[in-house]
Amino acid sequence: METLHTPEARALADLQKKDLAIDALKARAAAIPLKIKGVNAAFAGKKAAMLAAREAFLSLQSRKKDLELRIAEAEEGIRKHQLQLNQVKDNAAFKALLTEIEGDKAAKDELETGVLTLLEEIDKASVQDKALQAEVKVVEDAKNIEVAGLEASGKETAAALEAAAAVRAAAAAAIDAGLLEKYEAIRAARAGLAVAPVHEEQATGKLTCSGCHMGLTPQKAVDIKKPETFTFCPDCRRLMYSEKTLYGQ
Ligand SMILES: [Zn+2]
Repeated sequence: METLHTPEARALADLQKKDLAIDALKARAAAIPLKIKGVNAAFAGKKAAMLAAREAFLSLQSRKKDLELRIAEAEEGIRKHQLQLNQVKDNAAFKALLTEIEGDKAAKDELETGVLTLLEEIDKASVQDKALQAEVKVVEDAKNIEVAGLEASGKETAAALEAAAAVRAAAAAAIDAGLLEKYEAIRAARAGLAVAPVHEEQATGKLTCSGCHMGLTPQKAVDIKKPETFTFCPDCRRLMYSEKTLYGQ
């Protein structure tokens, strides 16, 4: 069969338009949760960087506290040995104590240098920590607005889909069951497009199937102009029609 004549040709072409609109709504609805997931993941990455910076800042502070404790211990050692210095009579013991005190002092100096270095690092880390916290706050606010917008869009899309599906069901119910079955079979096999308008190139008048972009044979170009008639595309087997003929444009 090369052509299909039916008084319901226009109704079927209309149904295809409704189905394409529904498919687009479904695609939009399906994309929204993925977009939300992506937005949340991007924010989680930013927050992880902030937590890592905070962790580094706290770790530096804890290292500084540790050094300060060890400085206090060194000072305590110096004090203890200086007290002992006043009590010893033995020259060798006196010298040994002096050596201990020197050692404690050297250790204390080294620890104090360590604290100074850490203080510089802590200053830098503190600046970075504050900047990241502020940045995360901004990013989080933007993320919440974006997610709320996407969720609202999801609800709108779902409502539009429901309304479109109801209209589509009523339109489909009015079409002959056999014709509808044929339409559904082609639609299932051809990525949702069963009924395709032919495309007419302005300059040359050349006609092509808008489903698969194959050119029409001279016979098909004649058939396509018959009223209330679909012409099967020899390549993709879709039902082709002319918008001009079918809708009188
Ligand atoms: Zn085709």
